Amino acid sequence: MFYLTAKPIYLSSNEDKLKVMKIISAFTFICSISSALAGTSQSENVVDLQLRWHHQFQFAGYYAAVEKGFYQEEGLDVHLHAGDPTHQPVQEVMSGRAQYAEGNSEVLFQRLQGTPLIALAAIFQHSPSVLLTRKDSGIDSVHALIGKKVMLMNITDDADFLATFLSEGVSLTQVKVMPSSYNLDDLVSGKVDAFNSYLTNEPFFLKQRHLAYNIIDPSNYGIDFYSDILFTTKAELRDNPKRVEAIRRATLKGWRYAMDHPNEIIELLINKYNVEKTRDHLEFEATEMRKLIFPDLIEIGHMNPGRWQQMAETFVKAGLIKPGYSLDGYIFDTTPRHLPDWILLVLIVVIIILTAVSYATYYLQRLNRRLAEAQVTLRGSEERLRLALGAASQGWFDLNVKSGNISVSEEYPKILGYDPTEFHTNLQEWKDRLHPEDRDAVMVAFRDCMSNGGPTSMEYRRQTKDGNWIWLSSVGKITEWGPLHQPLRMIGIHTNITNHKLLEIELKRQAHIDYLTGISNRGRFMELAEQELNRAVRYGNPLSIFMMDIDYFKRVNDTHGHKVGDIVLKKLAEICQQTLREVDVIGRLGGEEFAILLPETGIGEAAEAAERLKEAIENTKVPLESGLPLQFTVSIGVSSLTSKEDNMDVLLNRADQALYQAKNAGRNRVCVT
Ligand code: GH3
Ligand code: MG
Ligand code: MG
Repeated sequence: MFYLTAKPIYLSSNEDKLKVMKIISAFTFICSISSALAGTSQSENVVDLQLRWHHQFQFAGYYAAVEKGFYQEEGLDVHLHAGDPTHQPVQEVMSGRAQYAEGNSEVLFQRLQGTPLIALAAIFQHSPSVLLTRKDSGIDSVHALIGKKVMLMNITDDADFLATFLSEGVSLTQVKVMPSSYNLDDLVSGKVDAFNSYLTNEPFFLKQRHLAYNIIDPSNYGIDFYSDILFTTKAELRDNPKRVEAIRRATLKGWRYAMDHPNEIIELLINKYNVEKTRDHLEFEATEMRKLIFPDLIEIGHMNPGRWQQMAETFVKAGLIKPGYSLDGYIFDTTPRHLPDWILLVLIVVIIILTAVSYATYYLQRLNRRLAEAQVTLRGSEERLRLALGAASQGWFDLNVKSGNISVSEEYPKILGYDPTEFHTNLQEWKDRLHPEDRDAVMVAFRDCMSNGGPTSMEYRRQTKDGNWIWLSSVGKITEWGPLHQPLRMIGIHTNITNHKLLEIELKRQAHIDYLTGISNRGRFMELAEQELNRAVRYGNPLSIFMMDIDYFKRVNDTHGHKVGDIVLKKLAEICQQTLREVDVIGRLGGEEFAILLPETGIGEAAEAAERLKEAIENTKVPLESGLPLQFTVSIGVSSLTSKEDNMDVLLNRADQALYQAKNAGRNRVCVT
């Protein structure tokens, strides 16, 4: 058992530290022996827990855990022991009289000295230890304490004060340190200048006495210690690890309860623990404690290794502990690993490998699945493309411009009537099979595509395997260029447009021809006549025109009926086509009126041709169902291009006038203007 003598200590700084070290070492030694001698005969479920001081609200959580049966729930019978100068927590635990205790910074200090202690929970997040001075003394800082009488409890219990002095550069030799009388009257009477107290306790008395006071708080000097630490020994943790956890669990549960029901605990303290303090005082204590425990903000009992480290550093800075200390195992691990470290390491490695392998497997599977899906999609789209191309009579081609080689899809040979396996094509084969009439236009478009890249489309006739012509529409585009912008590759699509083209041609033809006679209608005749007239004017070629009208045609209709009239009209067209040249343009302008254009024909030749035609017509016998053949005649007016200013209207007018003359002259004759 050790505590400071009642005599004031006046020591030089170094001597002071040395003495403290020696004292602590001796203390530790005694404790160790006591511990070794102490029996562990008590039953496993009976536990002694040493409190730091007299029963008061400071230990509320422990009373709550006992009273509310939290320890009992864990199968434990916990006996709480009030503290006093002869029953101090570390001593009691190391001697084996208690297995658990609540202590202050001395717990860490002893641990750093080698005492095998384990911190289980820090109940107070901040230490309540402060120095009180009378306000009228004017002492309100550590420096103001120089030369003053300061009452301290125990240098290791009050390690935060020691650290505060040292960190402020105030040597203990400069301060008259006295052991605590635990009697506040010594401060009130002025016997001492500063009195070590708890924020939760003594200020209450000073307030009661209406005595103004100053507080010198280590936390204002950067010294922030945990306080009221539940702790045990290394041996207890080794031998009864479950019990350690159970005590901690039940104690913290008790603290939670006490913080939630402070009045119930105060009642309990008054009725069952015979506390000296009044109810008011206990209530004051409870209120002040909340500010140190922070039950609403911090999980009760929380310990931060960093803060323990800082506390240890403070001891080092104060010169009380040598650097290079170890805190290993001091802070109770709330998530205990029951496995040896190497197994954990192996497990971690195995987990990492397994994770990596399973991820890789998953990734590969996903990749495979996607590839398969992509293949299916590709195959699907290929089939769809083929189907679409086939249905649309289309085939793609891929031309290597340099070599002239062409690859084609199998639809293309099919369009041309080849078996895909027997068909081989290249640029020359393609050119050779173009329709001569279309070749020039196609080559213009092809060269266009070569220079501007396309897409360029062209329509042309191409010969099939059996020599027939089909219409193709080809769209080409250059997809690769050389460094000098020369085209290297052209791809595109050939489409068989024969059906469409024939239909188009037929529609065009129908729009141009006279439905009854099959020769050009008025529109088409005028169109072709304009072309010929332009050409004739441009080249200075002769050009002639006939206007021809059937004589007394009304009579034909009237006598034989319209049907016969139609037959006559058809016959006339037939005779014209047979009698005249291929290049002559024959048109039915309306009714029984016809016009004939004779390119490169002068007036003389034209007049002769008209005569020939007139004769051919009058010599034609149209067979009738009734038996007798029908004969008819025409009158023809002939006119020729005489000046470059002549247009079609002028020509037709003149020919019309000649026709009028022919009619007037008795019909079945040719008149020339
Ligand atoms: P002219 O010698 O003066 O020309 O006497 P025409 O009877 O031939 O002259 P007109 O103009 O009086 O009669 C033309 C007739 O041609 C009137 C019409 O019934 C007939 N005609 C016109 N178009 C057709 C046709 O498409 N079919 C038939 N069957 N008759 C037509
Ligand atoms: Mg007529
Ligand atoms: Mg007429």
